[in-house]
Parts: sequence; C-alpha cells; structure tokens
Amino acid sequence: MPACGRQALCEFGILLEGQMISLREIGEFGLIHRIRKWMTPSDSALVQGIGDDVAVIEMGSQSLLITTDILIEGIHFDQSWIDPYHLGKKALAVNLSDIAAMGGIPKYFLISLGLPKNIPLSFISSFYRGLKERAKQFHVDLIGGDTSLSQKLIINICLLGEGKKENLLYRSGAKVGNNLYVSGTLGDSALGLKLLQKRGNRRGPRELIEKHLSPYPRIQLGQAIAKHRWATSMIDVSDGLLIDTSHLLEESGVGARIWEDRIPLSKSYRKWIPSVSKDPYPIALSGGEDYELLFTAPPEMKHRLSSLALSLKTPITYIGEILPKKEGFHIVRKDGKKYLPSRFGFDHFRSW
Ligand code: ADP
Ligand code: MG
Repeated sequence: MPACGRQALCEFGILLEGQMISLREIGEFGLIHRIRKWMTPSDSALVQGIGDDVAVIEMGSQSLLITTDILIEGIHFDQSWIDPYHLGKKALAVNLSDIAAMGGIPKYFLISLGLPKNIPLSFISSFYRGLKERAKQFHVDLIGGDTSLSQKLIINICLLGEGKKENLLYRSGAKVGNNLYVSGTLGDSALGLKLLQKRGNRRGPRELIEKHLSPYPRIQLGQAIAKHRWATSMIDVSDGLLIDTSHLLEESGVGARIWEDRIPLSKSYRKWIPSVSKDPYPIALSGGEDYELLFTAPPEMKHRLSSLALSLKTPITYIGEILPKKEGFHIVRKDGKKYLPSRFGFDHFRSW
C-alpha cells in the first residue's frame, strides 16, 4: 500500500554486483523484483509466491491464501487526520482487499503492534474497536500477533484466507483481446487525503474523506467474479490505477490501452477536484488507496458483468483493452492522442 504521510528520508543502498545502488534508483518494485530473484522458492505446494496480491499454497481442493501489509505512522498515516477507530478498520480493510483481489474468502488474522510508550490505553482500545467491527463484518477472527515498544506506531497484519483452487484469479491471466474493467470510482481516496491535509479539521466532502479513512474491501464482488469464472486476471488498486495495471500487465506478459474519459469519477470527486487540480485525471490515474478491483475478462462477459454490477449495486466500468506486449501500455485521451504519464503511482522510495 502507498505511504501518504510525511516524506521519510531514505538513502539506503544495496550492494549489487560490487556496485552501490540506492533504493531511489530502483524503487520499491525494483527492490521486490530483486528479492524475488534472490529467494527462489523450492516447495512444490507453493502455487504463487512473491508477485501477486497474496501467496497461494495448495491444500487439496482448497488453497490457503496469505497476505500481509504494514502501516507506519508518519509514512502511511498521520494521527492528525485519522483517529484510532478508523485506523483499526483500515488496517484490516487493506489486507481484506488483497484477498478480494484473488476472489478468496478471508478467515483468520494476526496483528503485530509497535507501540510508543506514551500511547494511551484508550487509543489502543478504540483501535481494536475499529478492527473488531471490520472483523465481524467480514467474518474473520483474530488468532494472535506480537507487541513491542517502538518509537512510532507500527501496525502489521497478516491475513489468512482460502479459495477454490480452480476459481482463484491471479495477476498473470490477462489475454490479448480481453476487456479491462474497474469497480467503483477512482481517485476519491487520494483527493480525500489531499483535502484532509489542506483543510485540516474544517468540514470537507464526507464521501471522499470517508473513502480515504474507511475503505471498503470488495470481497463480495471478488468472490462473485471468481465463482462464475468471468474474469481472466485480477488485482486490487492500492497503489494507483496506472501502477497496478502495469503490475497486472507485467505478470501477464501483455500490453494495454486505457481510455481516459472512461475512468469512473464520482460526483463528489468532480465537484472537488478543481480545488486541487485543473485536470481531473492525474489524481484518478495515479492516486492510491482506492481498494477497487481491476480485472480483465473476455468481451463476451460484458452483459454478465453489467448484471452483476446491478445486483451488487457496485459500478463496474469498462475502461480499456488488453493488447499484445509489443504495443506497450498507454492512455488514450478524448481527442485520440496517446500518452504514458511520467508519474505512474506510488513508490515508497521514489515519491519524494
Ligand atoms: P500489494 O500492493 O498487493 O500489497 P505489493 O506491491 O506490496 O502488493 O507487493 C507485491 C509482491 O511483493 C507481493 O507478492 C508481496 O508479498 C511481495 N513483497 C513485498 N515486499 C516484500 C519483501 N520485503 N520481501 C518479500 N516479498 C515482498
Ligand atoms: Mg494488492
């Protein structure tokens, strides 16, 4: 997930082939790419290791799904705009979203906390109240964790889930000729955060701020798409549409085009975006933390997906199409001009 708070200074380096390379040069995803090469797995029951929304381990007809996400104070959140109750809800929601992106069923979670020594007990109890609310809503149980003293508040959740082996949707299944779809609307959370930062406690657009503080994981939608096998690949939009599309394309070995004017924008987003940007699209394309589902499906699934959107009261928008890899990835403007934005989305080591 992206960091949205104060920018942390980072000049770490890694020694690679005798050369000092900074994380700034390779970025978060360049680092993960290298870790993946260093740590080749050996167990044959491992269906998916590094490289998807969750790891998948074969367990008979069911597969075990495992995902983890970390939230660090000053990087992912700032206590001046998020209260402990919402923080608890959000910490679980971001993990639930990764299980949603596989079409899986979330089951159990562990939580590890790094706590500053002056933190009041009332803060922790409110945090657990938020956590419990989301846990009850999605029928997941807390089964353990770890607690430590820390200079800043750190929250790490590891969520376990399950799914039918043949129904799971990976980032790697997109095929040339598939349509590209996204659920809900994009950019609301990033704009909500910008407005929170700009306006502080002054009243702002509730829907946008709510989308940032209290994202709702698309578990039901993910499961429905997976159960019917209507899609070929899926990912959740946590770091921004462009960057998450590029992950899906990379894992599938394909290219894509997205039509800019098809990007779904909420009424509230359209109303408030002029206060921060003349062009509505950059934030919708690269702002993170929407926690919507991005997926590909053969064109003949269009009507079924429209019916599903109606029955779940969740918008599903056809935003682009999958192309051969050699055609790359680009956005098409309303006037037909193609471009690839220079800023893709959030990268922990490149965003400052
Ligand atoms: P998401 O945005 O869905 O949470 P990430 O972009 O954080 O996914 O991670 C992409 C992949 O890299 C995932 O498979 C994740 O488990 C893996 N990953 C991330 N950080 C590390 C790390 N430090 N070591 C090993 N694997 C990692
Ligand atoms: Mg994800």
